[in-house]
Amino acid sequence: MKRGRYLRSVLLIVLTFGFANLAIHFSFPHGVLIYWTLYVVPLVIAAIVYDIYGVITIGLMSIGAVSWWLYSSVNSPEFYKSLSVEATIMEIVVGISIFLIVGSILGVLSKKQKKQQMALELLSVHDRLTGLFNYSYFLDRMEEEKKRADRYEKELSFIMMDIDHFKHYNDTFGHEQGNVVLKKIAETIRKNTRDIDIVSRYGGEEFVILLPRASKEQAVVVAERIRKSVETLEFPGNREQPVVKKTISGGVALYPHDAKDAAGLVVKADEALYEAKESGRNKICIAT
Ligand code: GH3
Ligand code: MG
Ligand code: MG
Repeated sequence: MKRGRYLRSVLLIVLTFGFANLAIHFSFPHGVLIYWTLYVVPLVIAAIVYDIYGVITIGLMSIGAVSWWLYSSVNSPEFYKSLSVEATIMEIVVGISIFLIVGSILGVLSKKQKKQQMALELLSVHDRLTGLFNYSYFLDRMEEEKKRADRYEKELSFIMMDIDHFKHYNDTFGHEQGNVVLKKIAETIRKNTRDIDIVSRYGGEEFVILLPRASKEQAVVVAERIRKSVETLEFPGNREQPVVKKTISGGVALYPHDAKDAAGLVVKADEALYEAKESGRNKICIAT
């Protein structure tokens, strides 16, 4: 991110410098007319760095600079001595038009490429089905938040949740319908957490939530809120059973109280989750 901004700044300087240089060349009438072709350099750079808007800006500036040059040269007697004045004007007009067209195409392509890149970046941190963060991104964030918790001596809570008897739902109503359940529950979890909480899909039907600066008690409140919300949801079934209810279980662990590293925290929350499953499901248990 930082490097990208740095590169853009350098390119902006190159662009400005190149353009100013060309403008200065133009300000000396005659003899240097061939330099106008160099306008293609800032135009191409602008297209790549600033998309179509860069092309439009540089294009307009080029037209302005050339018009200004023509205007100032037309009054000088030497201008009339030139035998190919009309040809030169034509050349400039045609040349700038070609630049603008080529620059626009480049600008549009560059914009498209940037959009694709952004979409790829989104895909690389998000789970495709639920839209939550994926686990690999979650691990990175967990390391970051762990360091922050150390630095500011704050707590960091961790919740692991798992849908109860989900295999049965899948086997009875089909995988596609199972996916609908996953999406809806993911959305419910997101709605019941703060913006600063990091919610991720851990595996098939398991979710993990990292709650920076939240105590165990606060994390339990969040987990309970999610559990109760899931209880109220209604999912599609089949003809015999049109509406299906699902439940979810969870385990809560606290850094640095329960474990000293991310892996240990996951183990502790998983143990608590196991306890919730063993003691009847639709429950939240706390790591001991
Ligand atoms: P428990 O209450 O003990 O958690 O029982 P369970 O059946 O939910 O647990 P188990 O881990 O045995 O089964 C998880 C099931 O989740 C297996 C699979 O059918 C389903 N599953 C995993 N990933 C997906 C997915 O991406 N889409 C769908 N539809 N189902 C999935
Ligand atoms: Mg599971
Ligand atoms: Mg399950």
